[in-house]
Amino acid sequence: MHPDDDHAERMRVLQAEQRRKSAAARNPGRGLVLVHTGNGKGKSTSAFGVICRALGWGQRVGVVQFIKGNWVTGERRFFAGFPDQLDWHTMGDGFTWDTQDRDRDIAAAEAAFARALVMMTGGRYDLVVLDEINIALRYGYLSMRAVLEGIGARSDRTSVILTGRDAKPELCEYADLVSEMQDVKHPFAAGIKAQRGIDF
Ligand code: ATP
Ligand code: MG
Repeated sequence: MHPDDDHAERMRVLQAEQRRKSAAARNPGRGLVLVHTGNGKGKSTSAFGVICRALGWGQRVGVVQFIKGNWVTGERRFFAGFPDQLDWHTMGDGFTWDTQDRDRDIAAAEAAFARALVMMTGGRYDLVVLDEINIALRYGYLSMRAVLEGIGARSDRTSVILTGRDAKPELCEYADLVSEMQDVKHPFAAGIKAQRGIDF
């Protein structure tokens, strides 16, 4: 047999298999839960990409950022152009990477999650993004049980994306999708500082 024939036959088998899977796939009837984790760049930007898709379909999106965000970013500037479709909440006071006041951080994280809970359960949003919530979980600022209960109580129409390094196993277990960004190379390691348009 000519190698090309062999290849064509293998492709036919693959295609048939793929068609069978697509035909059998169902609609979940419920929004999905997606986790973006890992030590490589791309967790938040991938979530922003999904936000673009949702906005493109006229859907409503809520974002809660679980780190103090007092810096201007390209995404915030861009998404400010969608005030009717997108609500963006950045966690207030206190929580930064090098914060010293644990009680204040916990209060801020809990307040942000209360906001997220309203977004997830209220039935107004197609997509809710909880950016860097895995960090708040890792530091013990939020309990895994409360977060799982919250996303479990989401409206049927609402999908949720949770980002941040070190996603807990219980969360990955619950989620429909878990993607792990792997750091192969990052310019910061070569002494290059964060770049406008690439990093913020
Ligand atoms: P991005 O927002 O660019 O998608 P991220 O959400 O995956 O990044 P975070 O842990 O939230 O990553 O960190 C955000 C910032 O840290 C970004 O400026 C990003 O470029 C930088 N960063 C991400 N991964 C790395 C890494 N492996 N080494 C150094 N800096 C990193
Ligand atoms: Mg991020």
